[in-house]
Amino acid sequence: MSNLDARPDEQACPAVRAHLSPPAQSLLPRDVPLGGPRAITVLRTLPHKEIRTIGPWCFVDHAPPVDLSRPDAVGVDVPPHPHMGLQTVTWLLDGEVEHRDSEGNHQIVRPGQTNVMTAGRGISHSEYSRREADRLFLLQLWVALPDNHRFGAPHFEHHAELPVFTVDDAEITVINGTLCGHQSPAATYSPLVGAQVRLPPGGRASLALDPTFEHGVLVADGQARVDDVAVDFGALRYLGWGPESVSVASEDGATLLLIGGKPLGEDLLMWWNFVGRDHDEIVDARKAWESGDQFGTVVDDPNARIPAPAIPGVRMRPRPSRPG
Ligand code: MN
Repeated sequence: MSNLDARPDEQACPAVRAHLSPPAQSLLPRDVPLGGPRAITVLRTLPHKEIRTIGPWCFVDHAPPVDLSRPDAVGVDVPPHPHMGLQTVTWLLDGEVEHRDSEGNHQIVRPGQTNVMTAGRGISHSEYSRREADRLFLLQLWVALPDNHRFGAPHFEHHAELPVFTVDDAEITVINGTLCGHQSPAATYSPLVGAQVRLPPGGRASLALDPTFEHGVLVADGQARVDDVAVDFGALRYLGWGPESVSVASEDGATLLLIGGKPLGEDLLMWWNFVGRDHDEIVDARKAWESGDQFGTVVDDPNARIPAPAIPGVRMRPRPSRPG
């Protein structure tokens, strides 16, 4: 998807330098309309003012369920827009989303499958929910690319088959990275994990974690307890790094998203749909999109491109690193 804030802030995501992990805490989402008067509103938990990134994960958008059969229903309709320095990871709980990009890829993604787009030095794409499905319920996450891969060639992957296994009462699908020895075929550029964890009513599970990873658990559907703390729909329980396991449980059943990874150790600057390292790089990327260079043209999408918002008037200064 696209960050359609009319005046997006620059988001400084300083490298994690502390030896001690920040404490476990619940990150509440903020409502972000995805542009226009008839826009879908998503719940955004990353970047969060307390916790900017979790491992290389730098952006979490969660679109609550929509009944698309209603005449006034609004889906996800995001015309051509650029990305740089990140991977987009699309995960549906319900419905269908159609992807097209400037490399000529055209793909519909459905629940249980993932679309992973590696922007590298630059790509443009469009994303539309399909009315062939009555419901829409999706997540889109971004993974920041490390410095040694962020200028690579853009590419797109669709994975219809992903590892599925059970731990205790949970059914787990590995979207990207590795969990409990099960590895997703999706390309990764730093050690990470993204996995759906489905709990039936009354279900519980204890999941082994890599203690060198920073982790978080998003409650994508239902309500759950994470390490015995109640977490509401849409909230993200930050676990920090160090724990070797996490316990999850749900009275009425829940779908969770476990995300984690080794902190990149790089100061990131996020603005609009770009992940860069400093203000000048972001200004150049914006200029390149406005002039039509670098990001190509989405193949077979006649819709008008999304214009880039104005760069904030103030030059971004790095924020202090996290306490710890
Ligand atoms: Mn996008």
